[in-house]
Amino acid sequence: MTDRIYSTDQYATSMDATIVDVDPDDGRVLLDRTVFYPGGGGQPPDRGRLHLGDDRLEVVGTSADDRGVWHWLDGKVPATGTTLRGEVDWQRRYRLMRTHTAMHALCGVVWDRFASPVTGGNMEPGVGRLDFELPDWDPEAREPLEEALNRELQAARPVEIAFLPRDEADQDPSLIRTKVSLLPATLREVRVVDIVGLDRQADGGTHVASTSEVGHVRIAKIESKGRGFRRIRLVIDEG
Ligand SMILES: [Zn+2]
Repeated sequence: MTDRIYSTDQYATSMDATIVDVDPDDGRVLLDRTVFYPGGGGQPPDRGRLHLGDDRLEVVGTSADDRGVWHWLDGKVPATGTTLRGEVDWQRRYRLMRTHTAMHALCGVVWDRFASPVTGGNMEPGVGRLDFELPDWDPEAREPLEEALNRELQAARPVEIAFLPRDEADQDPSLIRTKVSLLPATLREVRVVDIVGLDRQADGGTHVASTSEVGHVRIAKIESKGRGFRRIRLVIDEG
């Protein structure tokens, strides 16, 4: 199994690693440890580079299976046993961390105001969308919602990572709301992302350490998705 460094150290940008298996047909390598997030929970897989001595290989994508994290390469696949240095595309990943954290903050604000659970979501660096069960929506509520969200972000709430035993997570009402029950039954430990005092979710993704790192966000659009569902689109203001 790959040691997933990003799970406990979300700010690690590089690692020394060894190739433990190769799949030359698909052009991918399995590493013993990695800072690359393989995607999931709406957050896309990381990209970056592998340095092998003077050689440099682009990592065009990553994915995970029960053996660990695979790194998809552009170019010739090196041999098993090769040691290397991996470096994530940090500019892109850090924007994803800010975007992902903004989305959790939005979940918290929507829950506080409307007790509406989130039903799905997706993001790219700097933009995200979340679907809520939100039957009675007044368009006038968009601006106050955006203001409340930015107030929460500016409050510099700490964002903490914890690992809970599965049965403890199964008993926690705030986690049940985010559908911890949908996690595979074999998962003995649940990773929890806690924006202290605002939102708590079972989540494998990468986030910033304080909401103040997100910056200012806009609610760009709220669309009706039928049967009482709304899709809220978020954009991070840059500059
Ligand atoms: Zn998440």
